Amino acid sequence: MITRRTALTAVAAASASPILTSAPSFAAAPPLAGTQAPSFFRYKVGDYEITAVGDGFLQRPLEGFVRNVDVADVKKTLVAQGLPDTHIRVPYTTLVINTGSKLILMDTGNGEFAAAPTTGRWMANFRAAGFTPEMVDTVIFSHFHGDHINGFRKKDGTAMFPRAEVMVPEAEWAFWMDEARMNAAPEAMKGAFKGVHFAFDPVAKDVTRYAWGKEIAPGITTVRADGHTPGHTAFVIASGKETMMFVADVTNTPILFARHPEWQVIFDMDPAQAILTRKRILDMASADRIRCAFYHGPFPSAGQVSRDAGGYRLDLIPLQDAI
Ligand SMILES: [Zn+2]
Repeated sequence: MITRRTALTAVAAASASPILTSAPSFAAAPPLAGTQAPSFFRYKVGDYEITAVGDGFLQRPLEGFVRNVDVADVKKTLVAQGLPDTHIRVPYTTLVINTGSKLILMDTGNGEFAAAPTTGRWMANFRAAGFTPEMVDTVIFSHFHGDHINGFRKKDGTAMFPRAEVMVPEAEWAFWMDEARMNAAPEAMKGAFKGVHFAFDPVAKDVTRYAWGKEIAPGITTVRADGHTPGHTAFVIASGKETMMFVADVTNTPILFARHPEWQVIFDMDPAQAILTRKRILDMASADRIRCAFYHGPFPSAGQVSRDAGGYRLDLIPLQDAI
């Protein structure tokens, strides 16, 4: 019988043997990974389990990113938060809500249309979180910009989520599916219209178009949040005694646009309305102490906003309390 003592003795004897007297050789350090690990993160809202699923990020130059302020001011805001002042990092984070009886996906990421190798990670992350596309019962869209809808359909035109019911903002649908408006749009905007058609034409007859102020799925209520796009929508997610909001692109990165709600990101289609919406939604979240999930915040892109001098402070979700 090998006891711990005899085993240790054997090891000691082996170490003393002549062939093992040279310095122990360890394996070489593993190569640097150079990429992010699968990015998904779970938290609870009442009985609902929410999984934030990341789709990587895009690195953007500072020049031209904020319409109405100097680059120097943007740099100052980044440095004040301990961030590099050489670029803006814009991540993408969708939400998967497991209500206990339904799996609901909020926005779909870039899918097979990623603009850089740092994005296009969504499906790998979604699968790493234990999900498959066939599990999705419902896809709810906040608005129709490509980084939110492109993951809905594969490049070959087939559906990414074969069983899913599709819910879209009524006002968004009216704007982007208007043939005459697409034809009249400047050339630079035609691609966006075409992307919407590519995603939704095959299911046009079946989509559910939702209005604002309605509970469209158990515990999920739509909130008017236009300005970023004509039908841009935020969502209150409530279960039991807990409530949170998915605010989508009410801010682009909250690092800049929660801090400075008057700043205009280049992607806001109606900048003045977007500012009004941003303040209304963030005021509500701050006053009522409702946690927010953002689409473009630092992963896992959720936290509590609080009114602060001139803007809002974002305290990221405390990880140890998440689940
Ligand atoms: Zn976006």
